[in-house]
Amino acid sequence: MTKLHINKLTPAWKIILNQIGLPYTETDSVEAELVLMNTYSAGMENLQQPGIILTPKVASQFLKYKIYPQKSIFLQGEFADLNPLDLHTNFYLFKEAKLLKSGIQRYKNFWILPFAIEDVIIKNKNQRKKFYAERYELPSEIVSKVSKGNIRRWLQRVFLKILQENHKIYVRYSHLPQPEQNLFIFRIDTDFANLNEVEQLYELLEKYEIKASWYIEATAETKLMKFYRKLQENNHEVGLHCFRHRVFKDYDRNLQNMLQGKTILQKNGIFPRGFVAPFGEWNENLDLAIQELGFDYSSEFSLNYDDLPFYPYTGNKFSANLQIPIHPISIGRLRRSHFTEQEMIEYFRFVLKQKGAYQEPLIIYHHPGHKHWQVLEAIFQEVQAWPKQTMLEYANWWRQRQEAEILNETTEIPFYMQKEDKYTYTKDLKVTTSKLNWQLVKSGKPVMNPNLRKWSWRDWLYNFEAWRGKVKK
Ligand SMILES: [Zn+2]
Repeated sequence: MTKLHINKLTPAWKIILNQIGLPYTETDSVEAELVLMNTYSAGMENLQQPGIILTPKVASQFLKYKIYPQKSIFLQGEFADLNPLDLHTNFYLFKEAKLLKSGIQRYKNFWILPFAIEDVIIKNKNQRKKFYAERYELPSEIVSKVSKGNIRRWLQRVFLKILQENHKIYVRYSHLPQPEQNLFIFRIDTDFANLNEVEQLYELLEKYEIKASWYIEATAETKLMKFYRKLQENNHEVGLHCFRHRVFKDYDRNLQNMLQGKTILQKNGIFPRGFVAPFGEWNENLDLAIQELGFDYSSEFSLNYDDLPFYPYTGNKFSANLQIPIHPISIGRLRRSHFTEQEMIEYFRFVLKQKGAYQEPLIIYHHPGHKHWQVLEAIFQEVQAWPKQTMLEYANWWRQRQEAEILNETTEIPFYMQKEDKYTYTKDLKVTTSKLNWQLVKSGKPVMNPNLRKWSWRDWLYNFEAWRGKVKK
């Protein structure tokens, strides 16, 4: 197993290292393949070991630098598929160091990170952002302002690059429950759908043997509730979306709204374990209400999207509520940006290829009221051979993985190994590596569209529509 030593463990580093799956120890010892120094101690500039990574705060103790405020940066070369890196923080450029295309800087044997992880990973701000497609008009959604998922992937690859240079094998916990490179999870928000729409969707799912995660808008009529109960009996997951389709700023109204929804579901024999907020909205008081009602997990893309699960850090402590980020662009958003059905299919083909290259789960969501069954059918065909789980199954697996990680255990959690450009999975670290079945690492597609971070008048229009939609309900 690859070991990482960190000399000061902060909540932000804890989140990102747990996601990556590298066992870490908080220590001043530099006897590890990867050594992360985020607090300065006298004389560390003389260390000679390979594999030492400095945060900008530490490097600035003995190197000259300039600070540039950066909204988003676009990486080049082998990192170009991780674009854009939405940072909204200070970028440090060190005078004597060499800036690589990956954004990392090198000085002697040191690797220097250009920004502070604490300044990006803990942030809760959101804004409307555009998502990559090969056309002029791009889809958009209100999501986390910082692209936390891309930052985590970037760091994951920086670690790999360092290990490769030192001829070491990268061994970490897998991001997927099976030793395969894909996982498909399908989420449904039932917002104001009618019986005919949900039945059609259910039949399509059955045809492709997909057990989905449905989140119920609890004002639905009795006949719909009967249908949702049948879903639960047929091993689909049934969770809570809302009573009123709103997220409030204060704790009391959030709690009341969720409690009202949960009570209605329970009266209908439905026992929700997961919650997903309307509009993907998140705030600290919502999180407190989710914890109070004892849900196992929640999913809100305004906190984070296209990333691995984590426990949010808010109000100076970790939440007990596991957050599961999804890909936030739904068919509804594509339709609003005038995509044809063929363009929608191509859009999702790109997203699923990218997730496959990252070896991360593909979690997408849909509203039955939006129909577009042909688009869904095309997606389901593409993922036919993939392993599939519900959100709850993945949440439970992730919790087990995190426990294994804390105890540093060899368990049923697969390990991912990478040696140069080849990777493999194993559940047994004692096995001779030559006996494993090594495969070539697929690379992601470069994301380079000049319109991605350019302001457009449509952004204002869509924000206005989102605001109006909330006021109406
Ligand atoms: Zn909704």
